[in-house]
Amino acid sequence: MPGATRMGTRAPVVDHGPRTGAKVALTFDADMTDGMLASLRAGRVKSYANLRILDLLERDEVPATFFLTGKWVQRYPDVTRRIAGNPRFELANHTYGHAAFTADCYDLPRLPVDELAGDVAKTFEVIAPYGGRQTRYFRFPGLCHDAAALDALAPLGVTVVDGDVVSGDPFATAWKPLVRAVLDHVRPGSVVIMHVTEANAAMTDEALPHILAGLRERGLVPAPLSEVLAEG
Ligand SMILES: [Zn+2]
Repeated sequence: MPGATRMGTRAPVVDHGPRTGAKVALTFDADMTDGMLASLRAGRVKSYANLRILDLLERDEVPATFFLTGKWVQRYPDVTRRIAGNPRFELANHTYGHAAFTADCYDLPRLPVDELAGDVAKTFEVIAPYGGRQTRYFRFPGLCHDAAALDALAPLGVTVVDGDVVSGDPFATAWKPLVRAVLDHVRPGSVVIMHVTEANAAMTDEALPHILAGLRERGLVPAPLSEVLAEG
């Protein structure tokens, strides 16, 4: 399975693939916390699933990789089925409830170190039944990790994927800065970090067509994460 590493050794961390060729990975995080679920229940927000991103990727037949939290999958099973059913999409792990795996990770509540492996294992169990292009790629909430967090994941045999191009789409109020942030930094082998969380990343779908056009102009081709990391 893509991303699988030897169990019992510290999880490797990758930011990007080889800087040869033309492939880049578009990755979309699907965060979900108890606070976000409460906002949905209270009607304070409409959706944390940006279906326009899926519409666009499907229409243009663009490969992408989705880092899913377990709670997002459980809240949006139909959308998860749609992602898993697309042969161009890969599924990856973004923890169960988007808690921090280190101290001082933005304002996220922190999981105790002895619960980290169980949290990630549970998330794989939630995602696995959906099938499709499953992986052993994992991304930490807020990209926050230290040696203790990496060691805690050793039993799972995962590859930790950070990324080298941060779109800055959470809580964005305009789409143009996202396009600039991506196109100014993207290179062959890049891993671009975006979000599919709608209410918390409302400009991403507006930025995406411009990002895709800019990639084409630069001769860069979106590919599933496993292909970007493997390309030599
Ligand atoms: Zn996240």
